[in-house]
Amino acid sequence: MFPREVVSALKSRQTPYYYYDLDLLRATLEEIQKTGLSRGYHIHFALKANHQKRILKVIREYGLGADCVSGGEVAQAIKCGFDPKDVVFAGVGKSDQEIELGLKEGIDCFNVESKQELSVINELAAEHGKTARVALRLNPNVDADTHRYITTGLKENKFGINQEDLDEVLELIPKFDHIELVGIHFHIGSQIQKLEPFRELCHRANELSNYIEDKGFNLPVINVGGGFGIDYKAPTSNPIPDFEHFFALFEEHLQLKDHQELHFELGRSVVGQCGSLITKVLYTKSGREKNFAIVDAGMTELIRPALYQASHGIDVLEPGEEKATYDVVGPVCESSDTFRTDVEIPKVERGDLIAIRSAGAYGEVMRSGYNLRTAFPSLYSDDIRG
Ligand SMILES: *Cc1c(COP(=O)(O)O)cnc(C)c1O
Repeated sequence: MFPREVVSALKSRQTPYYYYDLDLLRATLEEIQKTGLSRGYHIHFALKANHQKRILKVIREYGLGADCVSGGEVAQAIKCGFDPKDVVFAGVGKSDQEIELGLKEGIDCFNVESKQELSVINELAAEHGKTARVALRLNPNVDADTHRYITTGLKENKFGINQEDLDEVLELIPKFDHIELVGIHFHIGSQIQKLEPFRELCHRANELSNYIEDKGFNLPVINVGGGFGIDYKAPTSNPIPDFEHFFALFEEHLQLKDHQELHFELGRSVVGQCGSLITKVLYTKSGREKNFAIVDAGMTELIRPALYQASHGIDVLEPGEEKATYDVVGPVCESSDTFRTDVEIPKVERGDLIAIRSAGAYGEVMRSGYNLRTAFPSLYSDDIRG
């Protein structure tokens, strides 16, 4: 799975830590260029999936913009070289200070999630003598068919403006002198593995775009968000998502008008497979019914299994022939601090290294200070070859 020189570099460091394969990241971005940017689509990387400087620099080099959900992310994107004109700012609860930061930096667009937010942005823009470009985040009521914690486009979710409120919001827009409506925005959820929900999204986006433009508004931007899933079961044999099918679906089903641009906000599908959490087996113990492999990484380093019942591939870095079945668990004082239950892997002993795969998205960014555990620096593949 990892070449020998990588394994020996991985072994020489204090665990647990994240390892990023920047060559895989580049290959993924090349595929996105070939299939998405080449169709004229605008793609923003969702920083919330990963905001490491080294990762962001690579992503920017390939011509992606930045999709941010906090003032901290807006600042990080600009610090890492993204042009403010390539930065969009979404989020259901933007604070006044965050909105002011976006206005001062001159970001491209605020994705607005409520009537009240629109009026606050208008007021703050007036105070600063600016006009804010905004897209309305609409709730399309599309079921993303994913884990309920990461579905966002249903009526009962907190995100976006519901259909019932749309007319009222549209009536307000001409009254706001410091708002320029530039588009509509959707984001239906994350880790969506089937294309059907995206097809449904296209149909809703067509309807809504026509409805709003028929009322006399101009919508140069149609932003369909992110959510494209990755293959957590086969990170080695299927490391790059099928972007061609993904973008081709939008080309086929979204009725883009001549004056309209299509925008995407991809997070997980860009960075998910390039990261692994490297951890060491501290202890093994056998109960009456279970073997436990207790490793030195826990939910403090990678919370996805505890938070979403996510399942990550587990690779033993120097596997022997013999296999065994384990619950692979962390050291944190919570029973949910379990990476996998009853997983068959090569037999491990104290000191063996394990890679928890597909951890590049929503991994390191969700690290927590719980239990005051020590955080060790990440390793990047570019630093291995001498
Ligand atoms: C999280 C998020 C994304 C990225 O989602 P992925 O599933 O990682 O592609 C895009 N847009 C918005 C508004 C988000 O909140």
